[in-house]
Amino acid sequence: MELKAKIPDGPIEKKWEKHRFDMKLVNPANKRKYSVIVVGSGLAGASGAASMAELGYNVKCFCYQDSPRRAHSIAAQGGINAAKNYQNDGDSVYRLFYDTVKGGDFRSREANVHRLAELSVNIIDQCVAQGVPFAREYGGLLANRSFGGAQVSRTFYARGQTGQQLLLGAYQALQRQIGLGKVEMYPRHEMLEPILIDGRARGIVVRDMVTGELETHLADAVVLATGGYGNVFFLATYAKGCNGTAAWRSYKKGACFANPCFTQIHPTCIPVHGDYQSKLTLMSESLRNDGRIWVPKRADDKRPPGEIPEEDRDYYLERIYPSFGNLAPRDVSSRAAKRVVDEGRGVGPTGVGVYLDFADAIERLGEDVIAERYGNLFEMYERITDEDPYKVPMRIYPATHYTMGGLWVDYNLESTIPGLFVIGEANFSDHGANRLGASALMQGLADGYFVIPYTIGDYLARTKFEPLAADHPEAVATVAEVEVRIKRLLSINGTRTPTSFHRELGQIMWEYCGMARTREGLQEALGKIPALREEFWENVTVPGAATELNQSLEYAGRVADFLEIGELMCLDALEREESCGAHLREEYQTEDGEALRDDENYAHVAAWEYAGEGKKPIRNVEPLEFEYVELATRSYK
Ligand SMILES: Cc1cc2nc3c(=O)[nH]c(=O)nc-3n(C[C@H](O)[C@H](O)[C@H](O)COP(=O)(O)OP(=O)(O)OC[C@H]3O[C@@H](n4cnc5c(N)ncnc54)[C@H](O)[C@@H]3O)c2cc1C
Repeated sequence: MELKAKIPDGPIEKKWEKHRFDMKLVNPANKRKYSVIVVGSGLAGASGAASMAELGYNVKCFCYQDSPRRAHSIAAQGGINAAKNYQNDGDSVYRLFYDTVKGGDFRSREANVHRLAELSVNIIDQCVAQGVPFAREYGGLLANRSFGGAQVSRTFYARGQTGQQLLLGAYQALQRQIGLGKVEMYPRHEMLEPILIDGRARGIVVRDMVTGELETHLADAVVLATGGYGNVFFLATYAKGCNGTAAWRSYKKGACFANPCFTQIHPTCIPVHGDYQSKLTLMSESLRNDGRIWVPKRADDKRPPGEIPEEDRDYYLERIYPSFGNLAPRDVSSRAAKRVVDEGRGVGPTGVGVYLDFADAIERLGEDVIAERYGNLFEMYERITDEDPYKVPMRIYPATHYTMGGLWVDYNLESTIPGLFVIGEANFSDHGANRLGASALMQGLADGYFVIPYTIGDYLARTKFEPLAADHPEAVATVAEVEVRIKRLLSINGTRTPTSFHRELGQIMWEYCGMARTREGLQEALGKIPALREEFWENVTVPGAATELNQSLEYAGRVADFLEIGELMCLDALEREESCGAHLREEYQTEDGEALRDDENYAHVAAWEYAGEGKKPIRNVEPLEFEYVELATRSYK
């Protein structure tokens, strides 16, 4: 398949402006004749649905939670980047663009990233106008803090609840359109298949999660804003419900899946404490503004942290990366933590953890200031660990947090299925092989508020649509497909729960496709995952019926998809014979353990195309060109 990225010509800073002029428009009076389905009500989906409805399109919006307000975006803590340069510390659109391309280890599209940096400033204005209560300086201007991979302070925040406050803003905008009758909201509805008619996305099949009824919804275009698939690892910082089903079902209908192995492992999570744990908790990266990361210098030093004097501590990030210190990017910081733990210098009861210490900051600034900045995060930490981080250092360790991979999209955010657009974390765009902190919220809102409202109009204006009814043979066939799968899941009556399969898959993924990967390990995983999947389809137990509220059934369907997604991730990791960003292949690293890219052979996006059941998917390639940021080895030293 030829991947047409549709990047506009011209200088990078003019591309989006030119493109907006070149795109076709839908006359205001005609907009109400078009309908759009948006799957997802997180920051990307809610902002996209509200903006398209505001323009006049008829929108149907779906989510599996009981309220759009409960989308996973609500969990985002630390902040959102924007190149406002309020700090006067040297920031600019170009610097944000540069930092993001470099931070992504040169595996993202320059044109998309520049657009993102340009739009970052509009997002803040939009959110302030909505009343999002960003933190402010004494003079009234919005405050900023620093996040990893940047030497300027450009992160806007609302204490440790930035995602929640931004989502309330987007939700208000959505709610306004629901009130005006321009958005029909379908909470507790799960999309199980896209409907393609004449090769175009024209609808979806959803299951009403309360009654179990299958419904057909048709429209002129479909937008997926369904978030990331990182829960494939079972233990992750994601909300438990996050899954890859919508993206995966679309992949199997023709949407290419790009760079599936690029998953972000976040360095500051509360360490795993036992075998029965089902969730990991993030401690926001913002804590690294004031917290100092260290381990004892000697592996045999088992003294409590307070008894280890300064000279026996190794502040390893400050030592190895003096320019960025504790704010080295996530991939670099995670690997450094793994290295010291592998050396036997890890802390805590399991030995798999490092300290994040606020003692210096408390002494310098006072407990009140620290409480004001991070109070809710400290409280959360104490509730989970029963340790008071004002008195003893936090213990942290890397955990799965975000997926840079996702459905391939062109510059218009359209997938390889015409009429199927993908926004937010669900697409692969913008972050390359490693996302910088506070850039996911920026991307989701840029896509939803400022990109999709334009590009969807262009698609609608260029396309001729035949009227459709739910009894269209393709729609009927798609419903039948969903029914068969549900029946199959319910009829197996095996002995193992979906959770036990998911946990085992997660262990395989973490061991072989986690922070460090090897050829042998990935080959091993590619043997184990299909065997586990086969066992799943012979031995899973799903109690209850299809026509009722059935959380086991919902979950089993998602686990079945994870068992396929995991395999594609390992295949992608195996075939990318280089290290870049979060993808560390142990065979390709520098002497001091940093990622060693192979730009000659791998400066491209790998976009996987489904080839049919039991067949190896096709690896398509979109070459990446770097005209503005020189391809160089990343250095944070
Ligand atoms: C703990 C934590 C903290 C974070 N902090 C930050 C931060 O400070 N700054 C930052 O930039 N990023 C942060 N991130 C990342 C960021 O929160 C996410 O990447 C972002 O919120 C994703 O938004 P989204 O709209 O793409 O998807 P989501 O918010 O995940 O929303 C997905 C939506 O899709 C719906 N959906 C999914 N599948 C289906 C289906 N099959 N049928 C129907 N509906 C479906 C869901 O119901 C939901 O409404 C954090 C992530 C975590 C886990």
